[in-house]
Amino acid sequence: EQRLAVVKEHIGEFPDFPKKGIVFKDIFTALTNGHVCTCLKELIVNHVRSKCPDVEVIVGLESRGFLFSFTIAAELGIGCVPVRKKGKLPGECVSVEYVLEYGKDVFEMQKDSIKKGQKVLIIDDLLATGGSMEAAVRLVRKLGGEVQEALVLIELPFLNGRKRLDCNVHSFIQY
Ligand code: 5GP
Repeated sequence: EQRLAVVKEHIGEFPDFPKKGIVFKDIFTALTNGHVCTCLKELIVNHVRSKCPDVEVIVGLESRGFLFSFTIAAELGIGCVPVRKKGKLPGECVSVEYVLEYGKDVFEMQKDSIKKGQKVLIIDDLLATGGSMEAAVRLVRKLGGEVQEALVLIELPFLNGRKRLDCNVHSFIQY
């Protein structure tokens, strides 16, 4: 698929960010190019249309996931819903705690953001250890949503994030 090759070619790589030994994959590098933006949007929209045609709402993870969730939702004519770090969302929220390399964090969703039984696609830029995505899946299920797929642009398979997820997982690029 040519669109995928175009996107892959433009992903930035930053060694030793945010700390020594980590090679950070930067999607914003790719998004500076208009043609790449179009390719990326079409790539994801085509995948969702063919693999999850019944999806009713797109859930995006803070913060790069928001870029995808709104774009795809607008293209499909459905809604999008954010997962955010604790304390950022107004109104009544549900929370889940998840473990980071050092310590813990909490993700939240607004209580009425998903209806019981709604078919949900969760999207983020990158799957590393899978901790963030696993927490998002738990949140969606807590609200009664049915996770159809966890979708990421990039997966780092050596970190085994996929193994933590008991739902369909799709990535376009693996490093
Ligand atoms: P995980 O919870 O799977 O370990 O980490 C995934 C989360 O951390 C995602 O929300 C992702 O945005 C961020 N992340 C971790 N490593 C990278 C990276 O190399 N590049 C980018 N763009 N995000 C990363």
